[in-house]
Amino acid sequence: MCFFLALISAAACAQSSSDRAAADFAAKAIHPEQIRAHMRFLADSLLQGRAPGTPGYDIAAHYVASELEGMGLHPGIGGSWYQPVAFEKAVNDSSPGSLSLTINGQEQALVESKDYVLSPWFASPAPKEGGKAESDVSAPVAFVGFGVTAPDRNYDDYAGIDVHGKIVVIIYGAPSTFPSTERAYYSDGVTKAKNAIAHGAVGAISISLTEDWKRFPWDWIVPQIKAGSLRWLDKNGVPFDFFPQIRGRAFLSQQGAETLFKGAPKSLDEAFATARAGKPQSFALPATAHIHTVTTQSVIESPNIVAELKGSDPALRDQYVVYTAHVDHLGICPAVEGDNVCHGAMDNASGTASLLEIARAYASLPKPPRRSLLFVFVTGEEKGLLGSDYFAHFPTVPLKSIVANVNIDGAPGLYFSSKDIVPLGSEHSSLGNDVSAAAKELGYELSPDPMPEEVAFIRSDQYSFVLQGVPAVDITDGVKATDPKVNGLEVIKKWLVTRYHTPLDNMDQPMDLDSAAKGSVLNFLVGYRVAQQDSPPTWNKGDFFGTTFGPRHSAVGTGE
Ligand SMILES: [Zn+2]
Repeated sequence: MCFFLALISAAACAQSSSDRAAADFAAKAIHPEQIRAHMRFLADSLLQGRAPGTPGYDIAAHYVASELEGMGLHPGIGGSWYQPVAFEKAVNDSSPGSLSLTINGQEQALVESKDYVLSPWFASPAPKEGGKAESDVSAPVAFVGFGVTAPDRNYDDYAGIDVHGKIVVIIYGAPSTFPSTERAYYSDGVTKAKNAIAHGAVGAISISLTEDWKRFPWDWIVPQIKAGSLRWLDKNGVPFDFFPQIRGRAFLSQQGAETLFKGAPKSLDEAFATARAGKPQSFALPATAHIHTVTTQSVIESPNIVAELKGSDPALRDQYVVYTAHVDHLGICPAVEGDNVCHGAMDNASGTASLLEIARAYASLPKPPRRSLLFVFVTGEEKGLLGSDYFAHFPTVPLKSIVANVNIDGAPGLYFSSKDIVPLGSEHSSLGNDVSAAAKELGYELSPDPMPEEVAFIRSDQYSFVLQGVPAVDITDGVKATDPKVNGLEVIKKWLVTRYHTPLDNMDQPMDLDSAAKGSVLNFLVGYRVAQQDSPPTWNKGDFFGTTFGPRHSAVGTGE
C-alpha cells in the first residue's frame, strides 16, 4: 500500500510499491551464508590471489561461470561465458634500468628502490614471443605541480611554462578545491599523461605529498610497481593507453624528491603548500634527468566472464543494464605473518560474491525485468581497470544499447552494519534518483564521499563506462555504523592502512555478512529500477562527465 497516494503521482506510487516487492524478493533470495561461501572459495590460498594470466584467476573465472550456468542465465558471448582479453605484460629489469640526475652540473647519487622506481616500458606492437624492450630519454626537468589543465575550473599548472622536450615532475593527485569526482578525473594518470604530451613533454617523474605516504607507503608501492604492468592489446597487438611519447617514467620516494628539489627556486615544502592550497604552479628546475628503462615483455590472456538475462518487454529488451565486479586481485605479495598470498577477500571476492547472488536473485524472479541485464565479471581491475575498459571498448552488445553500469567493488556494508551508504558518481546522472529511492526503500541514508583524497571514483570499473559516456554508479561503504560505539570512518581508514592490498585482506578479518547481504539487495534494487523504467538514465544537464564523454554514447531510444 502506498501512503503517499494523495501527495504524489500514481506512477511514482506504482514504482514505490514495485520497489518494495522487488526489495522483499531480493532480500529473501540473497543469503549472507552464500556470499561468505563464494568469498571463502575465491579468497582461498589455492587460488594464489587470482592474478590475471595465472591458474588461480582461471579457476576463479570457471567457478563464476559454473555458478552463472547453474542459475539458468545465458552465456553472454555467442554461447560462451568468456570474453578473452589479451594483455602485454611488462616487468622491469631493475639492474640495467636507471635514473640519474644532474643538478647544477653535479651528478646526484640515486639508489634504485630507495630513491626511485621506474615504470615499465611497453613494446608496441607487443612481441609475439616476449623479449626485451628498451627506452632512453635525457632532458631538462620542469616542475608542473599536479600537472593539471582544467579550463572549466580555470586552473592550469602549465600556464606560463614551456615544457617542450622536457621531463615534467608531477605531484600525485589533483587540487582538493575541485569537486570529488572531478578531482578524481584529473588525478588519473592517463588524463595527466595526455596533458603532458599535449604540452610537449618527453618524460615524467611522479612525486607525492607527504600526507600521501601515510596512505600509500613507499615500501608498499614498490613491490606493486615491480610486479609489472599490463595493458590490453588491440587487434594489431598495440597496447592501449600506453604513451610512447613519454619516453621514460619514474616514481620518486620522499627522499628522492628532496634530492630532485636541491637548488630549486622554491623548496619542496613550499611547492607542497601551494599544491595543498589548490593553486596552480610550475617552474623550471636546475636539473637534467636521464631515464633508461629495460623491461621484459610477455603476452598473457585473461577473460572477462559475461552472463545475460533477457528482458521481458519486447520494446525494451534490446537495452541493457550492466552490472560489474572484478574477479582479479594482486596474486603473490610481500609476505605478512608468513603468508604471501594477497587473498583479496574484501577486494573483490566480496563484490564477486555479492554480484553472483544479485544475479541469482534476478534469475529467480517470476518475470524478468523489462530491460535485459548483463552480469560482467571482469579481469585486470587491479592493473588499471583493464578488463572493464576492454569490455567498454568491445562490449558484447552495442555500446549505445548499454543504458547504465552498476559496479560493485567491495560488497557495501561488509565492514560493519551501517545506517548510510556513499554512492560514487550518482550525482552526475538520473541514476542519483534511483540510488536515493532504493536507499530510502531500505532505510539507508546517503553520505557524501568522506575521503575525496582517495579519488575512488576513478579507481574502480564504473570509470571505464563513464569514459565511454555510460551513466554509472559504484555504491561504497557508509561511515555511520548502527552501533554507536563504532566509528565507521576510523574502521575504514584503519583497514586501508593495515589490510588493503596485503595478505591480511583474508577471511579471518572481522566482517558483517548480514550487512553485506543488505548492501547487495540495495544494488539489486538500483539496477532493477533502471531496468523497469520507461526511459533510460540520462546525464544531468551540463554535467562535467556527461558533457565530456556523453557524446561517445549516442542517444538510446526510449523504446516507445
Ligand atoms: Zn584493489
